[in-house]
Amino acid sequence: MSSKYEIVMGLETHVRIKSKTKMFCSCANALELASEANINVCPVCMGFPGMLPTLSSGVVDLAVRASHALRSVVQETSIFDRKSYFYPDLPMGYQITQLYQPVAMGGEVKTMVNGELRTFRIHHMHIENDAGKLVHSGGKTLCDYNRAGSPLMEIVTEPDFRSKDDVLGYLEELQKLMRWCGASDADMEKWQLRCDVNISVRLQWETKFRNRVELKNVNGFASIGRAIDAEYTRQVEIYEAGGTIDQETRGWSDERWVSTPMRSKEDAMDYRYFPDPDLPPLHLTTEFITSREIRELPIDRRLRYLEEYKLIDDDARILSENIITSNFYEELVNITKDPKKSCSYITTILFAIFESHETKLSLTDIKAETKEIARVIQLVNADELSSTNSKIVIEKLVFEWGQADSWVDSLSLRQKNDLGALESIVDAVLAESQAQVEEYKSGKINLFGFFVGQCMKKSAGQWNPKIFTDIIKKKLPN
Ligand SMILES: [Zn+2]
Repeated sequence: MSSKYEIVMGLETHVRIKSKTKMFCSCANALELASEANINVCPVCMGFPGMLPTLSSGVVDLAVRASHALRSVVQETSIFDRKSYFYPDLPMGYQITQLYQPVAMGGEVKTMVNGELRTFRIHHMHIENDAGKLVHSGGKTLCDYNRAGSPLMEIVTEPDFRSKDDVLGYLEELQKLMRWCGASDADMEKWQLRCDVNISVRLQWETKFRNRVELKNVNGFASIGRAIDAEYTRQVEIYEAGGTIDQETRGWSDERWVSTPMRSKEDAMDYRYFPDPDLPPLHLTTEFITSREIRELPIDRRLRYLEEYKLIDDDARILSENIITSNFYEELVNITKDPKKSCSYITTILFAIFESHETKLSLTDIKAETKEIARVIQLVNADELSSTNSKIVIEKLVFEWGQADSWVDSLSLRQKNDLGALESIVDAVLAESQAQVEEYKSGKINLFGFFVGQCMKKSAGQWNPKIFTDIIKKKLPN
């Protein structure tokens, strides 16, 4: 592979909106739950003559939230257009989409790629309805229209991607954003997020873009990576052999690891776009738009955890991964004012408890209130609870109701920190262990643990070993 070539890519990503109903009718938008074919259908999404589409407010709500997550400008007026073509999975004979005036313009997605903060510009986002699904089996083709009329967002980027890692980093962040704002689960395996990649190759020093190839429907992170590598190599080899690249659409086969031409620019279909006469322009009030704004995105929190809280990047990434973890962490820090310990109680103690449980648990399964988890951290910081014993209390709070303080007391885990009383215990221990004290003085310093152990024994384990250690240190010569 020659390094004098640079790859330039732009992405068109379809994200399924998880509204309750389909886009223009009241059929359930529940693809994963549909038990059989053609049960979530009605005259509207089946394209019966004379039926009128009505835009679902749930779809608009989530599309606007997603636009904010993309830092796009939500348009006060957008328009629906018909894209006409015939295919058996499209009962209406046209798709309702937004060509000329989409719902959101501009925007950006920020993410970390190989430890570096990158920004990828969004050109626009529009909403449209999906087609049905064709099932080919036994020489026959079956049509399932459960998906017909389901809402999609198409998110189109600028050609800002220069490597496979850029593309994968963007898609992972996009997935996070869609979940963060609640617009979609964006699960690639369930086809809730699918991607077309526009790829061209040019010499490193060139400023103009060369002809690009659109790779259609590449699905899954690993598959996208393979498709990009293969297309880069294919184009470089053609240029190296003195050839040229046709502007065309190619389909990627993940079984054979090759792309094959689907259609070229010459036979590009004429979709006869025109404004849908059945649908009025979509007008949104300023209030509707602004009330759905999202102040902080996962990347904002990740950067704040790094800079303000001084967490390591792995922890910052894990804690900003989804809104439940992040909000839980925020609540802990708010109470404890201890970002590092709040982090480790989530990432090591709680996650370990969840992991070791037979059914996978999450933060939402914790029985006690979040402030009780925070209270445990406070008790540890005040030396009233040892960090070893804090795990016992956390486990109680996860699986049973209750308050941190009552668990600490009922399990007799509260450490006493009365210095005077502790000192007299140390004095008594040292007086009873004259022989060991002499040995210690003559250099057998590993006897130190013995003294701490004796003190703990005398105090029935309820006192703080850390404070014992400090007192013993003071009383014994170094
Ligand atoms: Zn319907």
